[in-house]
Amino acid sequence: MPDLTKLAPEQLARHHTQCCDRYEHLRSQHLQINMARGLPSPDQLALSDRMLSLPGHADYMAEDGVDCRNYTGLQGLIEARRLFAGVVGVSPEQVVLAGNSSLAFMYDCIGYAWRHGMCSSEMPWSKERSVSFLCPVPGYDRHFRIAEEYGINLVPVPMLEDGPDMTIVCDIVVSDRSVKGMWCVPKYSNPTGTTYSSETIAALASMPTAAKDFRLFWDNAYAQHHLTDEEIEISNIVQLCEQHGYPDRALVFASTSKMTMAGSGVAIFGSSPSNVAWVLERLKVHTVGPDKLNQLRHVRFLKDDAGIRRLMHQHRAIMAPKFAEVLSVFERDLGQSGVAQWSKPKGGYFISLDVLPGCARRVIELAREAGIALTAAGAPFPGGYDPNDTNIRIAPSYLTLAQITVAAHAITLCVLLSGSEALLDRCPPGNSEKRLTTEIT
Ligand code: PMP
Repeated sequence: MPDLTKLAPEQLARHHTQCCDRYEHLRSQHLQINMARGLPSPDQLALSDRMLSLPGHADYMAEDGVDCRNYTGLQGLIEARRLFAGVVGVSPEQVVLAGNSSLAFMYDCIGYAWRHGMCSSEMPWSKERSVSFLCPVPGYDRHFRIAEEYGINLVPVPMLEDGPDMTIVCDIVVSDRSVKGMWCVPKYSNPTGTTYSSETIAALASMPTAAKDFRLFWDNAYAQHHLTDEEIEISNIVQLCEQHGYPDRALVFASTSKMTMAGSGVAIFGSSPSNVAWVLERLKVHTVGPDKLNQLRHVRFLKDDAGIRRLMHQHRAIMAPKFAEVLSVFERDLGQSGVAQWSKPKGGYFISLDVLPGCARRVIELAREAGIALTAAGAPFPGGYDPNDTNIRIAPSYLTLAQITVAAHAITLCVLLSGSEALLDRCPPGNSEKRLTTEIT
């Protein structure tokens, strides 16, 4: 594959024509492949099928004598909190388990803050003149949607190789007291796969903020979701915040959605004792008690840290070849093309593909026309607006390897087609003067 940005206009026009012919052939295949969201595949879900018969007919008593069929146990079973404490990096006493979705827990925490304030707030957030959250971008669209639901202003911050751009973050939080929070996916981030460095995490834990009730919404959704032997560990945010004199700064979220069953996992919250008390105070209005049978089922199935690790290795065995296939097709088809670059994640669920500015929407549209559904253009940005129109989220998890090969080649063709269109627009054949000007400016 030649570097398209270096081709003469006539060569580029020929390349474009070839891409158009191949694209027509692609369309004629009437593919129907959905790569829009990061769902676990059926064979990943099947890894936990044994859970469907747990805890078993007569096995419903928790270790402290709680009958899991009944109400009570607001904070979650102690054995389940012990099992998941390591995932959120706090003691079992500082864990709350609620519902099946960490995202719902985040939504609720913002709702609690909105109506009552955080434990250190002067007033409910709804009474503030304005509330803003920092959003490393590209980021997770559903985080942004939650904040938008409450009318929270979203302030994008560029994601760098080692996490959000901390120069910008520190400048904003120290001067703007409307900034009450920040979305963080610190490990194998959605969609870039970025892992925050120790320096970045230390800076987040220690930075002075104008808002005294500033919170890191620390969504460690991919804490165990490695794709390589490296198995990255990140610094403990709750401990660091405490060491730096901000014990209540971090609200840590995780879940078993992508360990056991995405539709019936356990949501995990870990934080300071004051934040745990704050959550429980609100939860007690919210519910009489969580689904303890599901918690018990998870304890019986996963057992301990080693059990979680074993299961996650099985996930990796299914996921890693899919990521490898996408990356190898991208490398083969686009490696030298000059019109795309992409992340090579060591964990998580996504690959982030960047195409020439102004081309992402077009690539996604071409792919859709060819029967490949991708995440909507702009989704990883606040308001669904990617200012450079470059980013495309690739979600390989759900598809079979055979489908991935087909989809990845289809995507690369759409990238080459839209890339050559864009370059031809800038310098059409027979207009070498314009081409020269384009290169100089
Ligand atoms: N956080 C992130 C960063 C995610 O990518 C996802 C799933 N795509 C979730 C949360 C959803 O987690 P849950 O199923 O626990 O709500």
